[in-house]
Amino acid sequence: MKPAAFEYVVAESIEGAVAALAEARGEAKIIAGGQSLVPMLNFRLLRPAILVDINRIPDLAYVREEPDAIRIGALTRHHQLETSPVIARHFPVLREAMTHVAHLAIRNRGTIGGSLSHADPAAELPMMALLLDAALRVVSGTGARAVKARDFFQDALSVDLAVDEIVTEIMLPKLPERTGWGFAEVSRRSGDFALAAVAVTLALADRTISEARIAMTGVAPTPRRVREAEALLVGRRVDCALTKEVVGLVRAATEPQTDLHASADYRRHLVGVLAGRALSAAWQRAEAA
Ligand SMILES: Cc1cc2nc3c(=O)[nH]c(=O)nc-3n(C[C@H](O)[C@H](O)[C@H](O)COP(=O)(O)OP(=O)(O)OC[C@H]3O[C@@H](n4cnc5c(N)ncnc54)[C@H](O)[C@@H]3O)c2cc1C
Repeated sequence: MKPAAFEYVVAESIEGAVAALAEARGEAKIIAGGQSLVPMLNFRLLRPAILVDINRIPDLAYVREEPDAIRIGALTRHHQLETSPVIARHFPVLREAMTHVAHLAIRNRGTIGGSLSHADPAAELPMMALLLDAALRVVSGTGARAVKARDFFQDALSVDLAVDEIVTEIMLPKLPERTGWGFAEVSRRSGDFALAAVAVTLALADRTISEARIAMTGVAPTPRRVREAEALLVGRRVDCALTKEVVGLVRAATEPQTDLHASADYRRHLVGVLAGRALSAAWQRAEAA
């Protein structure tokens, strides 16, 4: 299939991009890496009248360290995140997740802003944004606003973005000093979207957990945090009995779908197994930290 005809606008600035979006009144789409948008155009699932290309906007691809946070430009490619020493040092869980996103050729083009705005229910980056308490900077012709990741993802392929808004930056607050992490994913083939994936961070104070975070993808319309399990872990040390309780809470927090790749029951079972593995890895790393 070929896409329906569209006009093509190259934005040279953020102001130019949002002006083009506002003028099109919902008939335009931004194109960043094109790795999700182009297949949707080719299958004619989308027929925008105008594509606004943001690839030539200067200074929109960066990983910047600040005392308490890391700021990532929306046009930063997946491969840049995978190979960034700053990401490896502060968010090794994110670096690990990036190796599971598609194939290298796609990671060379796909952008963090595109992945978060597209919000595929089985994508890794929305789950990581939720896990890491990200805040997104969203700009329109009338100004800028910050949106927490937990408010951004509304439904499958649906986010808190108006038709004239663009994501320009993702802010990740640094994690506490003694934080361990775990990441576990199963997909049918390497590079495929996840059937299910779980990411865990555990911060320790003295010898017990002071902060726990558990996020999952592939098992609900949006990525989810498992707040009940997180609360259960605080003040405790991980052992078999506690892991079993956490796995039960993780499975209960899912809303999986049956599709041609896996049944809902299989996904629910799988996500529990993955949660156990990610929790165990996070606990071992936290204790060793
Ligand atoms: C074969 C294949 C396998 C894949 N496997 C995976 C996988 O395993 N895991 C995974 O997470 N992803 C996977 N992807 C998707 C890939 O990661 C995409 O790159 C990503 O989802 C979209 O990023 P993009 O920059 O290409 O966005 P685009 O395709 O350019 O845009 C996607 C959507 O986001 C909007 N958009 C883009 N940038 C912005 C912005 N800055 N502000 C507001 N809206 C914006 C666009 O208008 C469009 O609606 C796969 C893709 C392919 C083709």
